[in-house]
Amino acid sequence: MDLYEVFKKFFKGKGGYPKFKKRHSDDGFRYPQGFKVEEDNGRIYLPKIGYVRYRNSRKIEGIPKNVTVRQEADGWYASIQCEFELNNHVIVPNLNTAIGIDMGVKRFLTLSDGNFIKSLEERLKPIENKISLLQRRIKHKVKGSNNIKKAYVKLALLHKRKADIRNNFLHQASTLMVKNHDLIVIEDLKIKNMSKSAKGTIVNPGKNVKAKSGLNRSILNEAWYKFFTYLEYKLKLNGGILIKVDPKHTSQTCIQCGHISKDNRKEQAIFKCVKCGYETNADVNAAQNILRRAGLARIACQANLIRGRQQEPAEVYNSSNIVV
Ligand SMILES: [Zn+2]
Repeated sequence: MDLYEVFKKFFKGKGGYPKFKKRHSDDGFRYPQGFKVEEDNGRIYLPKIGYVRYRNSRKIEGIPKNVTVRQEADGWYASIQCEFELNNHVIVPNLNTAIGIDMGVKRFLTLSDGNFIKSLEERLKPIENKISLLQRRIKHKVKGSNNIKKAYVKLALLHKRKADIRNNFLHQASTLMVKNHDLIVIEDLKIKNMSKSAKGTIVNPGKNVKAKSGLNRSILNEAWYKFFTYLEYKLKLNGGILIKVDPKHTSQTCIQCGHISKDNRKEQAIFKCVKCGYETNADVNAAQNILRRAGLARIACQANLIRGRQQEPAEVYNSSNIVV
């Protein structure tokens, strides 16, 4: 079934040619039938294995259709896929809450109304330091020894923790967006799902991480991809709309007069139009262009007038308010 899905994607041009499965690369298995979930008893029946206790992360909604079991650094996980019907009451999106989002490096995202969410990287520093320290220590350990095995388990746990923090951040950021905005405009970036590239397993913890050049870029791409995916399904659940627009020149175009030039961006953070002299935060300018491209120019202008053009952007969506 999985092979069929991968080939379908491949022929549509949406994914690469399927690769052979490597040992330990994806240690999971799926039950399409025969399982029983006893939520109240906190246990699940898996054919050939029997009853297994589990810790609930959330309530089961709808009818469980299949269970996927996989091993991660800190234990075994069971994902229960369910089928349920969406409430079909029509929600009219409030267009006044329309917002354009510009994704960035220093700031994770900037909104067309001037708000932004800081990058997560700074907050991941402590755990990254721990990882690199452990990796340096591993170099001096004897290959195949018990000590090195223990260290690898520790390393895998740290990588898992880091991935958890990042994922949590993406969920909270996307939820925040969907809560406040019914219509969200993003750039149609050509990014692919790379979630498996750098994760690593217990036996092979993050080996790809080291090997990959341009690592930061790929991690950022992965984060954006996930963020867009989360935005899309959360908007769908809430009756909102996601619009993707052509990303070309969004950062070089003047929101005031429409002049496109690289010279508008002589400084990274500041946008200064060489034609009309309009000056603003570069990311906010880009986000406003993105919003405008969705045919929402009027709304963007109104928002501009209300907020005042020279207003400094405030970090309302502060990532430090997001509890990870
Ligand atoms: Zn201009």
